[in-house]
This record gives sequence, structure tokens and C-alpha cells, in this order.
Amino acid sequence: MDQRTTLHSLPQAPREFGFWLDGAWEGGRPLFERASPGHGVAVTLTPKCTVADLDAAVAAARRAFEDRGWAGLSGAERAAVLLRAAEILRRRRDEIAYWEVLENGKPIAQARGEIDHCIACFEVGAGAARLLHGDSFNSLGDGLFGMVLREPVGVVGLITPWNFPFLILCERVPFILASGCTMVVKPSEVTSATSLMLGEVLAEAGLPKGVYNVVTGSGRTIGQALTEHPDVDMLSFTGSTGVGRSVVHAAADSNFKKLGLELGGKNPIIVFADADLEDAADGAAFGISFNTGQCCVSSSRLIVDRRVAAEFEAILAAKMKRIVVGDPLDEATQVGAITTDAQNQTILSYIDKGKAEGAKVLTGGAAIELGRGSYIAPTLFSGVTPDMAIARDEIFGPVLSSFTFNTTDEAIRLANDTVYGLAASVWSKNIDTALTVSRRVRAGRFWVNCIMAGGPEMPLGGFKQSGWGREAGVYGVEEYTQVKSVHVEIGKRSHWIK
Ligand code: NAD
Repeated sequence: MDQRTTLHSLPQAPREFGFWLDGAWEGGRPLFERASPGHGVAVTLTPKCTVADLDAAVAAARRAFEDRGWAGLSGAERAAVLLRAAEILRRRRDEIAYWEVLENGKPIAQARGEIDHCIACFEVGAGAARLLHGDSFNSLGDGLFGMVLREPVGVVGLITPWNFPFLILCERVPFILASGCTMVVKPSEVTSATSLMLGEVLAEAGLPKGVYNVVTGSGRTIGQALTEHPDVDMLSFTGSTGVGRSVVHAAADSNFKKLGLELGGKNPIIVFADADLEDAADGAAFGISFNTGQCCVSSSRLIVDRRVAAEFEAILAAKMKRIVVGDPLDEATQVGAITTDAQNQTILSYIDKGKAEGAKVLTGGAAIELGRGSYIAPTLFSGVTPDMAIARDEIFGPVLSSFTFNTTDEAIRLANDTVYGLAASVWSKNIDTALTVSRRVRAGRFWVNCIMAGGPEMPLGGFKQSGWGREAGVYGVEEYTQVKSVHVEIGKRSHWIK
């Protein structure tokens, strides 16, 4: 069997992983068996680590930070490691995409595209490592000179979710490394394989031992212990707003570690009557169906100009019906499986709530039976009112709720009528409208006549209850630094004691 065939069929037996500690695999722990959400077949076995394993990983990361073997390198030397990692990822792209698909259920073609984005993250991180710099104050008078240094914050804990296991990892790891920090990663227990594989990639790229460690296990044990750990200087958490809140409490109750939080979203897509409606409908269909709507930035609230609402909903429903939902290992699939049974139940229960609350299903509205795995048809609800659960809650599935507006002010008010502020999109050919809406809707990422566009040069993060801080790009590297003011006296001191 050639590699292409192998990477399009299920493994004969689940692949067993160790965890990644101080530059090497560690084994001998009880194992967690993960079944492919698209097929219901066991695909991986990953360790259920103990809190003692976590302590060992934090100790390794601390040693690697304090010995200056990474933080003490020049930006150019760190960049060289990141660029070598990008090359190795290019070589192992199809293999990493395959394991991502098996654990997550996303389509294989999409997964390969995501690995390409991850490669770009390492390349941008390499550039940022060389460009990271501080500031100086030449304005303090002839007797004093001020320098502002950026120093790596230290040992970082990184907790990631299951929806984009490798992509979210790579939107953080290269930037954490660029800053000179070391880290302990705790991936979601159901999608740990590719975070573990990155350990091997980074070791081959020449990353010193102990700089990147991965401890697998449940959120309740390993995740919680990492957030409470007194020797972790910063924690970057990506996941639900509920767990994000508990992370804030844990940081406050332990050592006031610095926090970066990327949480939920209920993101608006606003369509004006003067938009290219075919383009906007394609964007709306993509925005809610990509990754089965299991994206923090999924555009799940359609806010459409009343004058074109019926026409637009008809175009959109027709497009959503044509989306190819199917086996994640099939090249033609556009939307794969729902990643966990619990998430599948959550999405179906919201579809039932929407129907019960009186919203009208224009397309979808049910599970798709493919004989194995969990699949849900991309769903469009019309006639949604702002008080309905499907209008307010993050469903994290392919369920789009449509509202109408009469004026630009009303569109902006509806867009901002949420506790979240992660992302938003506006579709209009009028520059005044597009810019006014972009400036007044409170969201960390904004798309004009496009959706989910961008690259790792641009910062990611949320307003309001969608989180704190920014990841990626130069902003992302700065997030993992502390700022230090250094004051230098020039010449003879003017004495205090006369
Ligand atoms: P989750 O919050 O349940 O889990 C996220 C991670 O936290 C997992 O690794 C989990 O094991 C760990 N965890 C669970 N309980 C913990 C605890 N008490 N202490 C520490 N860690 C704990 O989220 P999920 O179900 O994996 O992912 C879906 C959620 O993530 C959605 O709400 C989505 O919006 C959000 N998300 C946000 C972004 C973003 O960038 N803003 C990206 C992806 C997902």
C-alpha cells in the first residue's frame, strides 16, 4: 500500500503514544482510547498522566528556562530552529493531517490546508523572533537615559481545545518560542496526538530539551493542576468561557500567573442590501459550516437587511443544501463529523429548542445518518428573535440564526447584543457603511466582504467575554514577554544628603 492509500483508510489498530517530557517520549501510564468521530473506530491511545508527571514537566520547563539555553540565544538562532520546524512540518504535512482527521473528524483536504497555515505560523514566528525589540527614552534629560526591555515571561502553560488541535497549538507555540519562553502543553484529552507529534518535530529541528513538553490527560486533573501550578508564570487557555472563568479563579488563588484567554463567540455576519448577495451567501454558508461550525469564530448570527432578507435567505438555503457532508477521509467532503458525542447532543438539543421556540427551519435541522459517526446537516433558522436560546448561546455547531434589521444603527445594536466579542463580518459595497460597522461592532477580528480570512501576521483575540490578550504575529510574541524599565544615570549623581 502506498502512503496515499494508507492515509485515506483507517489504521489497522489504534496508534499508541507516550507523553513528551524533557525532549523524549515517556510511557507506562494507563491509556485513553480515542475513537474516530467519523467512523466510530478506535484510532489512538494516549497516556492518562498524573499530577506528578505534570510537576516533572513544569520542572523540566523551568530548568530549560533558567539555564538560558533557549532564552539566551539570539533572535536569529531561535528563528533558525523555527524555520527548520517549518520545513519538517512541510515534509510530514500529510501524516499530521491524517491523525488530526482521525481524532477530530474534520475533512482531510481541510486538515491539510490547516497544516499549511501552521507552517506559515512557524515562518512568521521566526520573523518575529528576529524583530522583537523594546524601546528607549531619550527624553528624560541629560542626566538620565531610559530603556524598555522585553523579557520572556518564563514557563508558560498552554491548554488547548479539540476543535483545531494542531492549528490552535501552532497559532501559539512558535510565538511563545520566539519570545524565549519554555512551555508545558495540555491538549484536549480527545485530540492529543498531533500536539505530541510536534514534540518530535521540534526535537528534530534542534529545540533544546525541556523547552516544549506535552502532558496528556483530563481537564479536571491535569488542566486544573496546570492552572493552579505555582511555578508556571503564564497560562494561555483556549476553550469555553465557563472553564476560562475557573482558570481566572485558579490563577488568582495560586500565584497570580499572567493569563491569555481565548474563549467563546456568538459572531455576527451583517449583510446589507447593497452587498453582492451571491458572495455574501457563499461567505455565510462557509462561515457557519466550516469545521461543522465548531469554530470559535463561526458566524452564527446572520443579521440581514429586511429589504433583501427573503431573497438572501433563499439563496443561502439553496447553497447550504449543496454542501457535501460526509466521511472525513473522502477528498470530496466539505463538512465532516461532529467531534464528540456530547457536542453532537448539544447541537441537536439546540436545534430542538429553536424549533420549539418558533423559529423556522429553512434547511437542515436534523442529524444525517451515514451508518457510522455523528453528522449534522448545515442548518438555517429564519425568524429568530433576540431572546431565543439559538440567538444568544454559543451552539458550536452548524446552526445559523437569521434576524433582520431596518437601519445601520439597528444592525450595529443587534451585532453588539451579546456577551461575546470575538469576530464579526460585514457585507456591503458602500465603504462608509462597511467602515462605520467595522469601527462600532465590538469584536477582536473583523472581516469586510470576506470571512475567516487572514494569516498568522494578524493578531487574534476577543473583546468582552471572549477573552484577554492577543495571539499570533508580533502582538502574539509580545504577549509572552514582560516589560522592564531600565533607568541609567549619566554622569555624577546629584546628592540627596547635603
Ligand atoms: P473546554 O473549555 O471544555 O476545554 C478546553 C481545554 O480545557 C481542554 O484541554 C480541556 O481538557 C481543558 N479543561 C477542561 N476543564 C478544565 C479545568 N477545570 N481547568 C483547566 N483546564 C480544563 O472547551 P472545548 O469543549 O474543548 O472547546 C470548545 C470551546 O472552546 C468553545 O466554547 C469555543 O468557543 C472555545 N474555543 C475558543 C477559541 C478561541 O480562540 N477563542 C478557539 C477554539 C475553541
